[in-house]
Order: sequence, then structure tokens, then C-alpha cells
Amino acid sequence: METRDRFNRPLRNLRLSVTDRCNLRCQYCMPEEHYTWLPREHLLSFEEISALVDAFIDVGVDKVRLTGGEPLLRRDLPALIRLLAAKPAIGDLALTTNGVLLAEQAEALRAAGLQRITVSLDTLNPERFTALTRRHDLDRVHTGIAAASSVFGALKLDTVVIREVNDRELIALVEYARTVHAEIRFIEYMDVGGATHWTREAVVSRAEILETLEQHYGRIEPILERHSAPAERFALPDGTTFGIIASTTAPFCADCDRSRVTADGMWFRCLYASEGTDLRAPLRGGASRDELSGILRTGWQQRADRGAEARLASRTREPLVPLSTLKSNPHLEMHTRGG
Ligand code: SAM
Ligand code: SF4
Ligand code: SF4
Repeated sequence: METRDRFNRPLRNLRLSVTDRCNLRCQYCMPEEHYTWLPREHLLSFEEISALVDAFIDVGVDKVRLTGGEPLLRRDLPALIRLLAAKPAIGDLALTTNGVLLAEQAEALRAAGLQRITVSLDTLNPERFTALTRRHDLDRVHTGIAAASSVFGALKLDTVVIREVNDRELIALVEYARTVHAEIRFIEYMDVGGATHWTREAVVSRAEILETLEQHYGRIEPILERHSAPAERFALPDGTTFGIIASTTAPFCADCDRSRVTADGMWFRCLYASEGTDLRAPLRGGASRDELSGILRTGWQQRADRGAEARLASRTREPLVPLSTLKSNPHLEMHTRGG
């Protein structure tokens, strides 16, 4: 049954983080040397995740995206995908990955029922990849993208654009995306929890991204669609399409139908929310499906979050969460709640 929040927004989209661990250390997401990890015994089992998804279905969710941390680090992920793919109410089952482990897993993910894949790729330059991620895995990401492209037929690439880091690679990334049958989406750098190196100056806006591409390719046409959020899609003169997610300069909170569950069962109704609802306790306490969906319904009806809009309006723009707070509450980290 559809449930509406205080701004009349339905809940349709669920981003499920299956682990807080990651095999990369992207500077815009995990810039620190040390992290506080979720206790392993708190991680939800696949059966627990499946039970939660049933409760989310009851309040209107029909799209699920698996994320992390790095979701492909979760052992036997295809088993979870099989459980979720068997639910007819889930019309869209997708995954976001950094691609490092994709070559070895693409076939199994597809066979388990995964419908769509998005790979995060910020640079084509090996030295820059290493500087950005503190790992040497660009070759593995390329192999993973090639494997996903052939197994899934099409895929999306997500690029966080950061000034003086990768903002001169936009054209090269568009060209690369064509060769692997991918649609690329450029994401504005966000000041989410964990992005402790974020500065306003480092954000490359949607307007700048469009200007750069237009100077090279010529006139760019917006593609008008009703349900493309959060990405706005555009077409180059030759018909190649791409997207821009302008979360920082033009937030789309007014239409936001998504929420997130961490790997230990904490439910966040906004990427910027400082407080979540613990779903693990009722789940492990034996709550029925109806009781769980009751908690979700009430929680969603009370939702009044417009986090990115509030950040845009705030004049100081200090880091969203100070480092000391992140260390004591890892739930506020982007890599814990899933991007
Ligand atoms: N590890 C997987 C990956 O990187 O695709 C999934 C989790 S990651 C947290 C999900 C997405 O969040 C990635 O596409 C990443 O680029 C994005 N992200 C992380 N920090 C960000 C930031 N500060 N601004 C914008 N996007 C960010
Ligand atoms: Fe990078 Fe994703 Fe890992 Fe964050 S969770 S460090 S974005 S690969
Ligand atoms: Fe949705 Fe919060 Fe992101 Fe706004 S900031 S789009 S309300 S998750």
C-alpha cells in the first residue's frame, strides 16, 4: 500500500547496504586512515534482509538497489539476489559497485536475477585512479566493466566530478562509456557524512559540466522524462545520451522517494539524516511482517527531510559531520549508509 510522507512523497526506492567494508578508499567517501566498522554480529543475514524487504514492499517499495561499502565483498551475494528476485513486487533490482570484483561475479549476479548494474568510475588515468582510491585496481575495474557489459548488455557508469581532480576527463569518459555500451552519469561532489575533504570550490556544477561538453560536442538537448530522477538526462548531437545528478547545486528533494537501510538494519529516510530507526531490534525480537511494516509506515508518514536543500541553504557549509562524531557513530558515513 502506498505511503506518503509529510511532503506527499511516496516511498518506492530502497537502497540496501549489504556491507560497510570496502576494497577502495575513494578520497570523497573514505579519506581517513582508520575507520570504525559495524560489529559483524550486527550484520543482517540474507533471511533478515529478505524479511525487511517484504515489510518495505507492504508500504510501497518496488525498486531495490544493493550497495555498500562495496557490495561484491559480501560473501555469496547471488544468494541474496535470488531471494529478492523471487519477489514479484520488486520490479527493479539493481546494484552499484566499484567494479573491482565484477569480472568474476557478473555471470553469477545475472544468473541470480540481478537486472541492472551501475559501476562507479571516476578516471581513466591509472595514476589518478591510485591517487583517488589509494589502490591499484583500475585494470580490474576495466575488466569488470567489460564483463558486465557483455553479460548485462548495457550498464551505467557513475562519475563524481571533482575540480582539479577529474574535471578534464569528462570528454574522455563520455567516449569510453560509448565503447562499453554504457550511459554515463556525472555526479556533483556532495558534502555527505564521510566527505571530510569536501569544499565548495571542489564542486563542479551541472552548468559547468554541460558547458564543457557543449564546447566539445555542440548543442546538447535535455531529454524530458517524467521518471528520470535523480539523474537529468541529455543527448549529444549524435544521439549519445548521458545524465547529470546535480545533488549539490540543484537538489531533487521535492521528488525524493528513496530511503536507505544499513548492513546492520538502521533505516535512514534521508542521505543527510543524523538519526535513523533501528529495524534490527524488532526484526530479531520476533516482530511480524505487519508489525515491521507498521513501523515503516509510521516512520515514513513522519518524514519531513529535505537534507540537500537544507545544506544548499546553509551559509556556513562546515562538514556535515565532524570526524570525531563519525568515529563514534559510523552510521553517519556515506560508505555505511550506501550512496
Ligand atoms: N562501493 C560502491 C561504489 O562505489 O559504487 C557502492 C557504494 S558508494 C558509497 C555509492 C556511490 O556513492 C558511488 O557511486 C560513489 O561515487 C558515491 N559517492 C560517495 N561519496 C560521494 C560524495 N561525497 N559525493 C557524491 N557521490 C559520492
Ligand atoms: Fe569508493 Fe564506493 Fe568504497 Fe566509497 S564505498 S570508498 S565510493 S568504492
Ligand atoms: Fe532525498 Fe535527502 Fe537526498 Fe533530498 S537529501 S534527495 S530528501 S535523500
